[in-house]
Amino acid sequence: MSRITPDLHRYEVWFFTGSQNLYGDETLRQVAEQSKTIADTLAAAEGIPVTIVWKPVLKDSESIKRAILEANANDSVIGLIAWMHTFSPAKMWISGLDALQKPLLHLHTQANVELPWAEIDMDFMNLNQAAHGDREFGYIQTRLGVARKTVVGHATNPAVTAQIGTWSRAAAGWAATKTLKLARFGDNMRFVAVTEGDKTEAELRFGVQVNTWGVNELAEAVAQATDAQIDSLVAEYEELYDVAPELRAGAARHESLRNGAAIEIGLRSFLEEGGFGAFTTSFEDLGALRQLPGLAVQRLMADGYGFGAEGDWKTAILVHAANVMGSGLPGGASLMEDYTYDLTPGSEVILGAHMLEVSPSLTSAKPTLEIHPLGIGGREDPVRLVFTADPGPAVVVAMSDMRDRFRLVANVVEVVEPTAPLPKLPVGRAVWKPEPSFEVSAAAWLTAGAAHHTVMSTAVGLDAFTDFADIAKTELLVIDENTDLRTFHREVRWNQAYYRLAQGL
Ligand code: MN
Repeated sequence: MSRITPDLHRYEVWFFTGSQNLYGDETLRQVAEQSKTIADTLAAAEGIPVTIVWKPVLKDSESIKRAILEANANDSVIGLIAWMHTFSPAKMWISGLDALQKPLLHLHTQANVELPWAEIDMDFMNLNQAAHGDREFGYIQTRLGVARKTVVGHATNPAVTAQIGTWSRAAAGWAATKTLKLARFGDNMRFVAVTEGDKTEAELRFGVQVNTWGVNELAEAVAQATDAQIDSLVAEYEELYDVAPELRAGAARHESLRNGAAIEIGLRSFLEEGGFGAFTTSFEDLGALRQLPGLAVQRLMADGYGFGAEGDWKTAILVHAANVMGSGLPGGASLMEDYTYDLTPGSEVILGAHMLEVSPSLTSAKPTLEIHPLGIGGREDPVRLVFTADPGPAVVVAMSDMRDRFRLVANVVEVVEPTAPLPKLPVGRAVWKPEPSFEVSAAAWLTAGAAHHTVMSTAVGLDAFTDFADIAKTELLVIDENTDLRTFHREVRWNQAYYRLAQGL
């Protein structure tokens, strides 16, 4: 129906070039010209989804500070790229960088690829000195504790533009998080620990507003869905999905499908009217709702909304951020829960699912729309989409509240075909092999205190979440092909100290 993920091209990343007045007009003219060429190269690069905007060369403290304040104040600007073509004495950058509120990427590049060995004279050396100009800039960023991504290489190198593209996706995810409003319908599931968290701290760290509404306000919105709206949505379901015969018009359980459609219409209108980009539900608090929302939640996630079950607002933030970061890419993002294992030695896999709420963005196949009993929640049988996630690379990411900070934990995984058909499992599901092995992955995950709810992303991978965590100045523990348990244990211990002591970087 209506996706809420932005067209990333609408976002701007400003390209800043540092220099100084010392060099004279002719050299500064060349600096401007060549930095425009670099910015144009990035703007045209296929892997960079945002709009790169070249800005006039910065030559003194005042203009640097003014340019950074302008970037801070402009909602379209999601980040800055900075490059010191010549030498830009870095004390000129102190007050500007100190005021910086947008993500920063330090591009360590130069105008030329090869050195024109036979032609080099001191004019060339004077113009092309990023090799030490950028080192001066690196020093002041580190000295000030400025969080940034450093990318090294020529702008025509696809490995360089791919890194900038990934970082710009992370910056877009951050921009979305900073303006995110999240609606909780009901509280967290009773007695559960890991879905709890400090919502005030979350607003300070991530910018997200997390607030609660009584579920009957949602039920009222559902009750307002008109027959005409329901007719049209049911027609859409019939077009998009293989609808179970018992749910079709005239069949015995069609009324349940109409109620599922009413829930989607009510939920969507509530979220749109409030400007919400993410939400949670709670099966313990369904008020006047006749079904636990399944189909509606699945479709809203596929449209970019963040969602967490059982009141899990932290995972809902991650699902929305992942949806924005992956905007325009194949694959998707969903709430996921490690459910159960196949422990066959040597071919262990994890079967992930939820009671109902897995996003169909994880499959390219046509889901079936079915109805089955669900004891949990104590309401009528809920309608839901049933499918298996496409095989391929993915990442699962969880957020825990460690009392003095939030911790992200990411595991690189490979989604695989289930070993055998699952004819009696009526939910959306994914089967995956975690890196580096089932035993190491699970032991590291447990050691980290990572949650059982995650976002599974098949559109963006570990690199985007790494950049996102760096921008958010939030701890990220990574479990991937390089993880060994001993080193991982030490990292967890050291991080305990580091994150209590460190400010910045
Ligand atoms: Mn759950």
